[in-house]
Amino acid sequence: MDLQLLEETLAANGEPPFRARQVWEWVAKGVGGYAQMTNVPAGLRERLEQELPLSSLQVRGEAKARDGTIKALFETGDGRPLETVLMRYRDSSSGATGRRSICVSSQSGCPLTCSFCATGSMKFGRNLTTSEILDQALHFRRMEPVDHCVFMGMGEPMLNLDNVLAACERLPDIGISHRHTTISTVGWIPGIERLAECPMPLRLALSLHAPEDVLRSELMPVNERYPLADVVKAGREFYARKRRRVFVEYVMLAGVNDRYEQALALARLLAPVERDDPKVFKVNLIPYNPTDSPFGGSSRESIAAFRTALEKHGVDATVRLTRGRDIDAACGQLAARNERSAPESSAPGAATGVS
Ligand code: SAH
Repeated sequence: MDLQLLEETLAANGEPPFRARQVWEWVAKGVGGYAQMTNVPAGLRERLEQELPLSSLQVRGEAKARDGTIKALFETGDGRPLETVLMRYRDSSSGATGRRSICVSSQSGCPLTCSFCATGSMKFGRNLTTSEILDQALHFRRMEPVDHCVFMGMGEPMLNLDNVLAACERLPDIGISHRHTTISTVGWIPGIERLAECPMPLRLALSLHAPEDVLRSELMPVNERYPLADVVKAGREFYARKRRRVFVEYVMLAGVNDRYEQALALARLLAPVERDDPKVFKVNLIPYNPTDSPFGGSSRESIAAFRTALEKHGVDATVRLTRGRDIDAACGQLAARNERSAPESSAPGAATGVS
C-alpha cells in the first residue's frame, strides 16, 4: 500500500492520525480488502476502496516451481518491472511448516554491472519506494505467513538504504523479525558502515564471488571502487560492532572461481586473524543459475570439494539449496527476459513460463 498516499487520503478526509496505523495493521496481517478492517468506519472503508489500491504494485506474472518456490513479476505504477521470490522450506524434523522466506528487490534493474547477473544486464530503472518494497512482502503475506526476508532480489540495497531501512522498520508487523532479515550487498562500504550503526539487529551478507582483486573486478566492476580487502575489513568491523556473523556469498562459476587454490585463498582472506578470534564469516556457496551470460555453473562435485577445502582451513561453509531452478528464479532472470522478449512489458504473462 502506498503509505504516503494513505496518510494524505486520511488527512483529506479529516480522519484522526491513528487511522493510518489502524489500516496498516490490517494490511500487515495480510487482509485481502478493506471490508475486513472491522474497526475502521464503514464509510471510510468505502472511500478508501475507491481512492487507494491495496497494493502499489500490479502482478504481471507468476511462476511456480516444483519445489514450492513462487516467483512474482510485478510492475510499479510508472511501469517499472521488479520481481520477488517466495521460498518454502520443509521442516524435516517435525514435518511442521518450515521457514517461509521472501527474496525482495530494492531497485527496478540495477546500476551495477556484475557480469554473471541477469539484473546487471538490464536497464536500471529507479530505486523502489518503501511501500513498493513492503508490497512485495505483503503480496506473499496475503497467501500465507512469512517469517524471513532477504534483500537478494533485483538491485543493490545499499544504494537505496533509506527506503530499505524504512521498510525493515515495518517488517516485524508483517511477521518478519529484524534478526530474520538479511541485507545483501556487493560490498558498498558506506552502506555497510551505516548498517553497523543502525539499531535494528539486521543481518549482513557480502557478495564476494572471488578471492582476489583481478578476478573480482572482472566479475564485479564495483570492486575497482571498493576492493576486496576493504570489503572484508568492513565485514569484520560490522561483526565487532553488532556481534552478528556475516554471510559471504560466493556464486560457483565453472573454471572461473572454483579451483582448489581459490578455496585456499578465500579461506586465508576470511580466516580468524588471531587463533582465538571468533569466526566472523560464514560462506554460502551458491550454485549458479545459468542465465544468458557466458558463464556456466560449477558441478556438484566441485562445489562439494570447494566447501571441504574451506572447512579444512577453518572457514565454515554451506552449499545453498537451489530453489526454483525450473522457473529461472535467479536474481533478475524473469524480468530481464521479460524486458527482452516484450518491450511493452505490461502484457500479462509475457514472461516465459509464467501462467
Ligand atoms: N546487489 C546485491 C543483492 C542482489 S543479488 C548483491 O549483489 O549482493 C543477490 C545474490 O544473488 C548475489 O550474491 C548475486 O551475486 C547472486 N546472483 C546473481 N545472479 C545469480 C545467478 N544467476 N545465479 C546464482 N546467484 C546469482
